[in-house]
Amino acid sequence: MEFGYNEAQQKVRELTAEFVQTKINPRLQSPPDPEKFDRSLWKACAEQGLLSYGMPESWNSKAQGSLLTMVMALESFGYACDDNGLPFALASQGCTIQHSLLAHGSQAQQDDFLPGCISGDLIGATAMTEPDAGSDSNSIGMFAEKTDQGYLLSGEKLMITLAPVADFCIVFATVNKKAGRWGITAFLVELDTPGAEVIGPVPKLGLDSAPMGRIKLDACLVAENRRMGPEGAGAAIAHQLLEVERTCILASQVGRMHRQLEDTVDYAKNRKQFGQPIGGFQAVSHRMADMRVRLENARLLLYKTAWKMDQGESARLESSMLKLAISEDFLASSIDSMRIHGGYSYIEDHFSGRDTRDALGGVLYAGTSDIQRNIIASLLGL
Ligand SMILES: Cc1cc2nc3c(=O)[nH]c(=O)nc-3n(C[C@H](O)[C@H](O)[C@H](O)COP(=O)(O)OP(=O)(O)OC[C@H]3O[C@@H](n4cnc5c(N)ncnc54)[C@H](O)[C@@H]3O)c2cc1C
Repeated sequence: MEFGYNEAQQKVRELTAEFVQTKINPRLQSPPDPEKFDRSLWKACAEQGLLSYGMPESWNSKAQGSLLTMVMALESFGYACDDNGLPFALASQGCTIQHSLLAHGSQAQQDDFLPGCISGDLIGATAMTEPDAGSDSNSIGMFAEKTDQGYLLSGEKLMITLAPVADFCIVFATVNKKAGRWGITAFLVELDTPGAEVIGPVPKLGLDSAPMGRIKLDACLVAENRRMGPEGAGAAIAHQLLEVERTCILASQVGRMHRQLEDTVDYAKNRKQFGQPIGGFQAVSHRMADMRVRLENARLLLYKTAWKMDQGESARLESSMLKLAISEDFLASSIDSMRIHGGYSYIEDHFSGRDTRDALGGVLYAGTSDIQRNIIASLLGL
C-alpha cells in the first residue's frame, strides 16, 4: 500500500494551487454575487485543464489522469480558493455531467457536448429533483410523451445547480408513471429549446457563486437522438451518476477543511484571553484535534473511493460512506471553527460562518445524510 503522492499527483496539486492563487482569487467578488456568474473565470479553469480529467485526448483534453487525479486537483483548488462555490460547480460539471455523458451518451451525444464542456464553452446541469420528488427520486412526475417527432417533456425541476447559466441539462423524466423506476428515462435537453424556461438564480443559504435555479418544461420537444440510453434506463444512469458525484463533489471541501484548520490554529495561537493564547485552553485545543482527525479521515475516504472507481469497481458503499462522513465532518469542523473564533465568526463575512453555510448544503445534496445511511444499512443486508 502506497500512501504518498507520486510525482505527477504532486505536480497537479502544486500547479492547481498556484493557478488559483494567481489567476482566480484576485478576480473573485467578495462577497460573491449569485446574480453575476463570471463565465470568464469558468473558461480560465477549463483552460487550466480542470474540466479535462478522465476525458479522451481526442477532444483537446488538456489534463490527463484519472478520477483520483481529479479529486486531488479539486482538493488543491478548495484549499487555495477563497470561495467554495466555484470548485463545487466545477466538480458538478467535471464529474457528474461529463462522466455521465462519457459512460452513457451515444458517440454523437458525446461529440456534440463533451468538447464544449471540456473547453469551458458549454455548461451543463443535472435535473432530478421536483417539488414532490426529492429523496424519493423514483417517484418523479416530469412526463416524456413519445410522439413521431420525438418526446414532449412537461413538468418542473427545482434546486438545480448551475441551471441559470447552463446551456444544456441532463433531465430525468418518466415515459410511464405506473412503471416506477422502470419508466425513468434520461434526456439531454438544450435549454434554449422552445418550451424550456429557466427561473433563477434563486436565493440560497450558501455556495453563493454556484447559481441555482428551477427548470420548467412545457411540451418541450426533445429529439429521440437526445435520449441518453434506452427508455427505462434512467434510474440506473442516475445511480451511476450519483456514485461519481458522491465521490467527487466534496473533494474541494476536503481542501477547505485543511485551510480552515490552519487558519483556526493560527487564530488560536494569537488570540489572547485571560492573559494567554486561547489555544492553550484544553477545551479549545481539543476542538482543533477533532478537526485534524476529521480532515485525515476525509482524505483517506476520498482517495480510496476515487482509487476504487479508477479500478473499474463499484464504489456504491464507499461513495455513500464518503458523502456521509465528509459532509457531516465539514459541517462539524466549520461549527468548531466558528466557536473558536467567537463572536467574530458571526459578524460580517467571516470565513468560518461562510464555511458553515456552504457545509450545510453538503448534508443535503446528492442524497441527504439519512439517505446515505439507508444505502449503507441496505448494503449491510438490513
Ligand atoms: C446546494 C444544493 C444543490 C443541489 N443541486 C441539485 C441538482 O443539481 N440537481 C438536482 O436534481 N437536485 C439538486 N439538489 C436537490 C437535492 O438533491 C435534494 O434537496 C435532496 O435530494 C433532498 O430532497 P428534498 O429536498 O426534497 O428533501 P426530502 O426528500 O423531502 O427530505 C426531507 C427530509 O426527510 C428525510 N427523508 C426523506 N426520505 C427519507 C427516508 N427514506 N429515510 C430517512 N429519511 C428520509 C431527508 O433525509 C430529509 O431530512 C440540490 C440541493 C442543494 C441543497
